[in-house]
Amino acid sequence: MVKRNPHIAALPSQYLFVEVARRKAAFCEKNPDTPLIDLGIGDFVDPLSQTVAEAMSKTASSLATKEGFSGYGPTAGNQLLRERIANVLYQDKINANEIHISDGAKPDMGRLQLLFGSKVSVAVQEPVYPAYVDTSYLLGQKELVLMPNCTNFFPNLSETPRTDIIFFCSPNNPTGTAATFEQLEELVAFAKKNRSIIIFDTAYSAYIRDPNIPKSIYEIPGGREIAIEVGSFSKMAGFTGVRLGWSVTPKELKFEDGTTVADDWQALYSRFFNGASIVAQAGGLAALTPKGLNESKLLADQYLENAREIKEILTAQGHSCFGGQNCPYVWAQFEGLSSWEAFDQVLNNAHTVTVPGSGFGKSGEGFLRFSGFSKNVLSCC
Ligand code: PLP
Repeated sequence: MVKRNPHIAALPSQYLFVEVARRKAAFCEKNPDTPLIDLGIGDFVDPLSQTVAEAMSKTASSLATKEGFSGYGPTAGNQLLRERIANVLYQDKINANEIHISDGAKPDMGRLQLLFGSKVSVAVQEPVYPAYVDTSYLLGQKELVLMPNCTNFFPNLSETPRTDIIFFCSPNNPTGTAATFEQLEELVAFAKKNRSIIIFDTAYSAYIRDPNIPKSIYEIPGGREIAIEVGSFSKMAGFTGVRLGWSVTPKELKFEDGTTVADDWQALYSRFFNGASIVAQAGGLAALTPKGLNESKLLADQYLENAREIKEILTAQGHSCFGGQNCPYVWAQFEGLSSWEAFDQVLNNAHTVTVPGSGFGKSGEGFLRFSGFSKNVLSCC
């Protein structure tokens, strides 16, 4: 018999979404005529834009021709797409050759863990997007440092112990908060002093509207020396099913022995990834044209408007609410209730599905996450 991998056995259970689905199904069975508002899901609810769909179908059709067929592409991705990401999303603050195109931000989190191995110490925000924790456990980490919260869920860095790696997500899932320039300057200085590497997740940067909120860690002086950035087309342009993302490893980012992180990333990447789908990359190129960007922005604006409305309703009811301005999530506190009690209350009284905050770590207890990815938020709570 083969021994079970103990790191998989140590993974926290995925009970959260299974239980949400179970309670939702039980409600529907009991109340078949009551329509439910689903503000639980963190996923696009609108179809892909025509611009993106047409580009993908054109590429798919041309793959069926002698001239248009292409087998494996470059592992790091289509050069034109790398250039367009560097130009459109980073205003050429980074070089196209520092970008690796991927099949999404979540798979990149797992690959990045392999880059650093199991001997590094890791810090995460609390509450936290579970993929950072799960992929750390998978590599055999036993205990992660949970950064203590300070203002608006930005960590209190003066009380945070040094770690090798810091996972940081802004705009944040689940709290919906987004770090300011000043806060990110503090984070960069902290990482620099400690010689740590930040893995900066910008999956929701397309929702930033406030000019004092950076869309990239590389907008902060010194960011290139201490951070890897991971981005995604999922929430920017509805690619959650299409699958497309990218990572940035600047050439200044070095290991202790002076070797370049980007070189190891390239070496690792090509060992077990054969490049993102050619069709998805054609969609990505189209999403970054002025027309594609505008179409995605209109949808993002709608999701942000939903989040604003949700926050307004919840605030009027007396709940402390966070986020919902530069991020499509609202994080609301239900005083005196556990997350699951609050979940049941909102489900039964307002016929609305949410996500219990306790699913994002202990400090999420007593909170619910409301998602703006919805067609209908009125009377949601
Ligand atoms: N990062 C964060 C913070 C997310 O919330 C999500 C998805 O919900 C992802 C990454 C996953 O992105 P992708 O679909 O590109 O794998």
